[in-house]
Amino acid sequence: MVITHNLGYPRIGNQRQLKFALESYWSGKSTLDELKNTGAELRKAHWQLQNQLNWVPVGDFSFYDQVLDMSLTLGHLPTRAQGFEGDALDNTFRIARGRTAPTTNAQEITAGEMTKWFDTNYHYIVPEFDAQTRFSLNAERLLAQVKEAQQQNVAVKPVIIGPVTYLLLGKSKDGIDRLSLLDQLLPVYQTLLSTLSAQGISWVQIDEPALVTTLDDEWKEAFERSYAALSRSPVKLLLTTYFGTLLDNRELVTRLPVAGVHLDLTYGHDDLAPLVDALSADTVVSLGVINGRNIWKTDLNATLDWLEPVAQKLGSRLWLAPSCSLLHVPADLGQETNLDPEVKTWLAFAQQKLDELHTLAQALNLGRQAVAGALEDNARAIASRKQSTRVHNPAVEQAVQACTTELGARQNAFTERHAVQSAQLTLPAFPTTTIGSFPQTPEIRQARLQFKKGELDAEAYEAAMKKEIAYAIEQQEALGLDVLVHGEAERNDMVEYFGEQLDGYVFSQYGWVQSYGSRCVKPPILFGDIDRPNAMTVHWAQYAQSLTNKPVKGMLTGPVTMLNWSFVRDDLPRSTVCLQLALAIRKEVQDLEAAGIQIIQIDEAALREGLPLRQSQWATYLEWAVNCFRIAANGVRDDTQIHTHMCYSEFNDIMPAIAAMDADVITIETSRSDMELLQAFDDFHYPNDIGPGVYDIHSPNIPDEAQIIALMKNAAQRIAPERLWVNPDCGLKTRQWAEVLPALKAMVSAAQTLRQEATQEAVETV
Ligand code: GLN
Ligand code: ZN
Repeated sequence: MVITHNLGYPRIGNQRQLKFALESYWSGKSTLDELKNTGAELRKAHWQLQNQLNWVPVGDFSFYDQVLDMSLTLGHLPTRAQGFEGDALDNTFRIARGRTAPTTNAQEITAGEMTKWFDTNYHYIVPEFDAQTRFSLNAERLLAQVKEAQQQNVAVKPVIIGPVTYLLLGKSKDGIDRLSLLDQLLPVYQTLLSTLSAQGISWVQIDEPALVTTLDDEWKEAFERSYAALSRSPVKLLLTTYFGTLLDNRELVTRLPVAGVHLDLTYGHDDLAPLVDALSADTVVSLGVINGRNIWKTDLNATLDWLEPVAQKLGSRLWLAPSCSLLHVPADLGQETNLDPEVKTWLAFAQQKLDELHTLAQALNLGRQAVAGALEDNARAIASRKQSTRVHNPAVEQAVQACTTELGARQNAFTERHAVQSAQLTLPAFPTTTIGSFPQTPEIRQARLQFKKGELDAEAYEAAMKKEIAYAIEQQEALGLDVLVHGEAERNDMVEYFGEQLDGYVFSQYGWVQSYGSRCVKPPILFGDIDRPNAMTVHWAQYAQSLTNKPVKGMLTGPVTMLNWSFVRDDLPRSTVCLQLALAIRKEVQDLEAAGIQIIQIDEAALREGLPLRQSQWATYLEWAVNCFRIAANGVRDDTQIHTHMCYSEFNDIMPAIAAMDADVITIETSRSDMELLQAFDDFHYPNDIGPGVYDIHSPNIPDEAQIIALMKNAAQRIAPERLWVNPDCGLKTRQWAEVLPALKAMVSAAQTLRQEATQEAVETV
């Protein structure tokens, strides 16, 4: 009999119940008990939805973040959060977001740092380590959930994060070697496992996704030491890896004394045979055969074709599961009533993935005949997707075939372009600009909502947006900015706006995925060949340009960011899909140029996010990603100025790729890092223009002129002043006009002062 289990279930709720309960509590509108009740209801509902499984994950539910929960379980709180008298959940919120509900009167503290969970879009709260770090078991939350599940007759398999991954995910605050904490940490894990055993638990899922990353010898040794210690515990451990293959860690895994190993097979089957051969004869092998982080139906028949012989060989040692926690996919496709009906038959959200798992297990246990209907349905859906003319557009496929890297080259090198552009644009030194969006006011959101509901007709909506654009232009003129933007009033989101106008994309209604805490995103679904039937932004840009004599920057989202922020089809390499996006955006760039737009910005906010987990694979990704950007951007005349924007501050390790994009101007986020990151550009002798952010748009604080001047002078020590632009860190859509206007005013005066000082210096040196 093959055993089925799940690694984790989306906890936010099919209607985002947890989000709303959290936000209501945080704003003082409901009580902690009400929030806890919502949590209990969600857990109960989710366990019921998983009741066909042989083992159900417990402890995967979190009110905020599972890594932070693990920190609390290990009794490891940042010093500033220690000694809290109130409810543990309130303290969790303090660590996560700096504060709890206003009704608790708890002191605010600095929020913990957040970072991406491996290569997903989920963000966890980073454990903070220093010489004072001590661990002590606090299993209350986990034990309560275990008990609750047992009372509901759930087949409980607690889920915890393993010790090595836990240390790896954390950050040393004072330079302490994280591994020096391992000896102190392991006894806490041992007690935790014994405690679980005493509660009647037999299997524990211990997540060690660190095993799909490159580990140096010290970390490998830490794995050996940890599992040697934990193997003495009375429960059976399912060592769980996901988000990649084990590659060079394969041998290490076979040496670890655990009762079972879970492999993510969605990245290939290379680990499977060697592992099965090397593991001891009674070790459970759990296979992640259903993609837990994408939304396509599994080809069940094809899966059974290779799985049946494996099942034969493994017998009762075989467990089946999704590849990773289903946290990364939406809850239930069944709720989608507006989704394109054809595309819908190709999809599986969390609930449908569990159904697939059940079908596979039935087929293995009872023979395919027992689930013939389900297998036929599946085969039909898979075939329809393969053949659909909605997916395959021969013209696009030909265009991709015909694509050469030469398409991505500008006509001339930067220095020559620069001369032509300067002559034409006649910008002052330290030109000022913004990153694209201006505040998305309640009026703008209201108009969009009414338009979507049909309460506002297209003409009235167009007029409302034009009014906003005119206002943004008027304000920028009054401020004296040099390069203007139309303000992006008409855009709900920088990916969705373009996706909605491209063939090959659909949008779900409830396809929410947790990003962090109560925040969710609804990634667009890229299902087919990408084509751009009509211009997407040209008439807005033209309208804005008609209102001013200053240059207005056209504003587009780049192909790599479109890709990295979507659920992407799995029947083509990502590099090919990206190329299709690049060709679509290239057309838009060329149309903007033809419409007289002299400056075009192509945002690549998420370029870094696509980096593979293993650094050895970075070069391949960067090569195609940069190639796609170049193809999107560079089909223009020398006198058209291309900008790109990236909103992060780590460039050191990808500098050659950034330079290869060959944008005339790059704007980046720097204000918080005090321009330190410009060192990377300096060391690399980055040749083109740079706009280091001088206004931290994530904060309500308004910078003054002196602060901006100081930042720019700091920048000028690393980058030649004639190559510097003056701009905010990122778009202004989340801010209010009342903040934006004084901040930009300070920015413009700072640039004026810098220009005067530069002229004076020039006079003095003559
Ligand atoms: N042009 C976009 C804006 O200004 C860029 C947003 C981003 O980089 N995240 O909002
Ligand atoms: Zn940005």
